[in-house]
Amino acid sequence: MMKEPTLGNPKNTIEILQKYQFSFQKKYGQNFLIDTHVLEKIISSAQITEEDVVLEIGPGIGTMTQYLACAAKKVIAVEIDRSLIPILEDTLGEYKNVRIINEDVLKLDLAKLALEENEGRPIKVVANLPYYITTPIIMGLFEKHVPLESITVMIQKEVADRMQVGPGTKDYGALSLAVQYYAIPYIVANVPPNCFMPRPAVSSAVIRLTKRKEPAVLVEDESLMFRLIRASFNQRRKTLVNGLKNSAELDFSKEEIQNAVETLGKGVNVRGEMLSLEEFATLANYLKRHKE
Ligand code: SAM
Repeated sequence: MMKEPTLGNPKNTIEILQKYQFSFQKKYGQNFLIDTHVLEKIISSAQITEEDVVLEIGPGIGTMTQYLACAAKKVIAVEIDRSLIPILEDTLGEYKNVRIINEDVLKLDLAKLALEENEGRPIKVVANLPYYITTPIIMGLFEKHVPLESITVMIQKEVADRMQVGPGTKDYGALSLAVQYYAIPYIVANVPPNCFMPRPAVSSAVIRLTKRKEPAVLVEDESLMFRLIRASFNQRRKTLVNGLKNSAELDFSKEEIQNAVETLGKGVNVRGEMLSLEEFATLANYLKRHKE
């Protein structure tokens, strides 16, 4: 029988922190979860089964890791802060299906790790993420083609909102399009600052990103589509035509751009923020085929 989780409430968390005289490092975005309801909600929405290999990014003192270890076949926990390793060895000592890796997750080859740990079958990612690197972590998982089924993560609420909105809203941007290209986002819960120790300055949300079997749209040149998207939102207040013309990442004449934008049937003065993912794909496919 796997040991029931012992962490996840303020009393036991404080006891561990005092035992090891741990001091929080702000630069690592350390806000530890101290609410068992939130932990249970994350585990249930991640839909973990005994067949699953789970990657946890930033286990902290191992609070969520204990819950994950009870639900999954195996947990790989990647933690950057060396001073947390002896704590993790203590709090996770009785969970034999946990592997702790003391590394910066952004420097690890996660595709290789998933291959080694689950023979290339898709893994699930579950984490209370360090907020300062939310976007590079999530985009890295998608763009480096780590075999995965879903990502269930606690992130800043404002960022979660950006991931699931569509054209014409103020939060819509390059992140919304990139996430929706690879996955189906769903906000599972909003989480207030008092569920963490220390309390973060912002509100949080748990979001599940279910990876699509195929990307949401067909595009011949993925990199060109994302350069178009970045150029459109870098100059949000400009028309799409001007945004694309001014971008250092693109090399199309004004005429080529105007012709491409006209094919969308929205007028030449349309702004990028009004375009759906399908329309960015249409634009990229047209420009690719009509480059002089
Ligand atoms: N999972 C724990 C919890 O819920 O209580 C801790 C979450 S805390 C928000 C983020 C964790 O990520 C911290 O333990 C921090 O040290 C770790 N971390 C920060 N940057 C990291 C990086 N680049 N690679 C791996 N872990 C990182």
